[in-house]
Amino acid sequence: MSSRTAAPSQDGATARAAAQARAAAPALAALSLPDRASLLRGLSHTLGDNAAHLAAVAEDETRLGVNRLRGEIRRTQVQLEMFADVVEAGAFLDVMIDPPDPSAQPAPRPDIRRMLVPLGPVAVFSASNFPFAFSVLGGDTASALAAGCPVVVKAHEGHPRLSDLTGELAADALPAGALSVVHGREEGRRLVTEPAIRAVGFTGSTSGGRALFDLAGSRPDPIPFYGELGSLNPVVVTPAACAARGADIVLEYVASVSLGQGQFCTKPGLLFLPAGHTLEHHLRRAIAAVPSGPLLGSWISTAYRATLEELATHPAVTPVHLAATPDDTRTSVPALLATTAESVRAHPELLTECFGPASLIITYTTTDELLETLSTLPGGLTATVHGQEHEDELLARRLTAALHAGRLIWNGWPTGVAVTAAMHHGGPWPATTSPLHTSVGSRAISRWMRPVAYQNMPERLLPAPLRRANPWNVPQQVDGGLPGRSAS
Ligand code: NAP
Repeated sequence: MSSRTAAPSQDGATARAAAQARAAAPALAALSLPDRASLLRGLSHTLGDNAAHLAAVAEDETRLGVNRLRGEIRRTQVQLEMFADVVEAGAFLDVMIDPPDPSAQPAPRPDIRRMLVPLGPVAVFSASNFPFAFSVLGGDTASALAAGCPVVVKAHEGHPRLSDLTGELAADALPAGALSVVHGREEGRRLVTEPAIRAVGFTGSTSGGRALFDLAGSRPDPIPFYGELGSLNPVVVTPAACAARGADIVLEYVASVSLGQGQFCTKPGLLFLPAGHTLEHHLRRAIAAVPSGPLLGSWISTAYRATLEELATHPAVTPVHLAATPDDTRTSVPALLATTAESVRAHPELLTECFGPASLIITYTTTDELLETLSTLPGGLTATVHGQEHEDELLARRLTAALHAGRLIWNGWPTGVAVTAAMHHGGPWPATTSPLHTSVGSRAISRWMRPVAYQNMPERLLPAPLRRANPWNVPQQVDGGLPGRSAS
């Protein structure tokens, strides 16, 4: 398969999947935490047991390379297992208990107990560029199931067979209706408007995400929409770092730009270098050594080539290196382009994501000019500073304050997102539609839950995590203290 295909019509499939998810929701929400965790671990085992076959189908559809795909399956397993641990630990329920206080000022206080509860069925739009880690059993699905929400996945048509296969394997390991897969753009739009669907997770383009975000907001009952969209991921090199290790930095930069043929939402799309740098030769040599390779599909390649041509032929831009365009419409064209900070401020259209192995180098003359230009950048998933630890301390503080992104990186590269509790994979628009939330790491679960406060509720009517005996043994924050597991 060389490209995404039009999905066959699925008369009624979305309505059926949403109805099954609605029916499955109460039992999934009521599962004990160990039972919920064991479902997630079961899914991880299913992926592991079928890894060779899944990777072969994925390779046939995406051409991402079997090694990379096997690694991505492992990452997807790790995500599922991490959420199993999160569920068992119970802190994600965010239990707070404020006992009654008849002497509280200005008025006596009732007994208030609060926790997070599942939102209900979630729609997940899977990504083209991560057929496992952000697809049928990816982070959105894992976090939603961990929260106790059934999932209906809108498959990405760049890997439809893999999506169905993963969905079938997963369905066998889950209660009926807890996970299903639908196909096709119209079915995707229908899914967002299905009354049973209570929230949406999306990874993809800014235009597609915006269209679906608007649709979710236009429902009679608007629902939360968590879109992870586009990002320029600027990298700033200070004059001191450029002088001390410029050649090494640009080598690593080109490696990060071209990793996975640049098909990462964290690819560094902008490199700020001090004017007068002498790294042109290193840059040209590094990018010329990047082999062309297949992109995810001809639809990605067509969009990439069109955006690249627009940038490369812009009067304010000079190509550093532009590979010849191959005849094969799916093959990448690695490229580096150059411009100045002044031109970027005059031509904001240069600040465009080019999804593939291309990046724009921007030279700046002074710190003030650099800071002024950074203030014009759109919100991003990441921003990076390469500086000298002691020499650049003051400048580094000013730069990190000026950069507008969900993850700030010091002397490293944005590609590669660790799956940890502290990770934030999100950021201000257009990086995401909700700057409060992350789609990677254990905090991703909070997108699928809502708080409920119970006031003066009799003990036997309270959910188990809120009871004094604490039968689920979850951390409880009592009267504003630190969360603990002792009975309140
Ligand atoms: P896409 O075109 O946005 O498609 C993603 C999903 O949204 C697909 O399921 C697609 O359905 C659906 N969709 C797109 N536009 C829609 C619309 N107007 N109405 C309803 N549904 C719509 O993303 P893609 O195929 O991955 O395209 C690549 C672009 O996405 C890249 O240029 C890159 O900028 C961005 N991207 C970002 C990330 C990230 O992590 N932030 C990851 C991957 C890609 P159909 O496939 O059925 O048409």
